[in-house]
Amino acid sequence: MERALSLNLLNAAGVVYFFGVTAACFFTADLLVLPRLSADGDLASPGCVRLLLYCVIAEVLANYFAVLRTSRRNSATSTVFARTPASTNGSSTVLGYSGLANAEFCLHCRAKRPPGAHHCPLCRVCVLGHDHHCFFTACCIGRCNRRHFLPLMLHVLLGSSLCVCLQYLYLARVFQPALSVNIWMYFYPITVVLYATGNADASVVAMVTLLFATLFGVLASFYFFFFQLLLVCRGQTPHEFAEVSAPAPKMSLGSCRRNCARVFGRCGLLQFLWPCPALPMPEDFARPAKTA
Ligand SMILES: [Zn+2]
Ligand SMILES: [Zn+2]
Repeated sequence: MERALSLNLLNAAGVVYFFGVTAACFFTADLLVLPRLSADGDLASPGCVRLLLYCVIAEVLANYFAVLRTSRRNSATSTVFARTPASTNGSSTVLGYSGLANAEFCLHCRAKRPPGAHHCPLCRVCVLGHDHHCFFTACCIGRCNRRHFLPLMLHVLLGSSLCVCLQYLYLARVFQPALSVNIWMYFYPITVVLYATGNADASVVAMVTLLFATLFGVLASFYFFFFQLLLVCRGQTPHEFAEVSAPAPKMSLGSCRRNCARVFGRCGLLQFLWPCPALPMPEDFARPAKTA
C-alpha cells in the first residue's frame, strides 16, 4: 500500500517536473534570455535560435502527447493479444511476439499474455513489449508508443541542451560582472551558500536552480535516447537486456534494420520529423527472419 502510494506520488512529481521545467525553460529563454543576449550582441543570429527553440518545443509537446495517446494500445490482454488467432501455435508471430503456445498467465489481470509482456502495477495492465514505466509521462513505454518515446527523448535532449547553453550565457553576461565572482558560483551548493550569506541575489539562485534542473533533463534524455537506440537496434527490451542468462536477444528479427522497422514502421524516420500516431503498426515486419 505504502509502495503504491509512493509510486503514485513519483508519477505525479514526474509530470509536474516535466511541465514545470519545460515551461520555465521556454518562457525564460523566450522572454528574458534571448532579448538580453540579442541586445548585447552575444548571439550571431538570435532569430534562428528563437526559431529552433519554437520548433523543438513543438516537437517535444507533440511527441509527449503521442506517447500518451498510443500508450492505451499497449495493453497486451485487451488489444493486440485478443487479435491473435487461437490457432497460433508459436510457429508464426503477431507483432513480432510468438503466440499462445508461449503465453504466460498474469495473476493480476487473470489473463494470458504473450512473451515480452509485463504487468505494470501503476497502469494495472500487462503491457505488450514492456520497456519501462515512464514517470515523466505517467504511462508505460511499450510496443505501441516506443516509436514516439525515442523522438521525444531526442527532442528533449536538443531542447534542454540549447536551454542550458542560453542560461549559462545569460548568467555569465548578466550576473558575473556585477557580482565579481568566478564560475564556481554556478555550482548549485555554492550558489545557495552565497545567497544565504548575502553574497548572491535571489534571481541568481532561481536561474542556477533552473540551470541544474535543465541539466538533469540533458543527462536523463541522453541516457534514455542512446540506451533505447541500442535496445531497438538489438531487438530487445530492458528486461531482456538485464537477463544475464540470455546472451542472444530472443525477440530479435535478425538484423538491425528489421528490428528498427518493427518499432518505427516502414517510414521510420518520419517519426523523428513529426509524430505520426495514425501510421499503422508494422505487423508485416514482424514475421520471423528468413533463415538461409
Ligand atoms: Zn497483468
Ligand atoms: Zn506503467
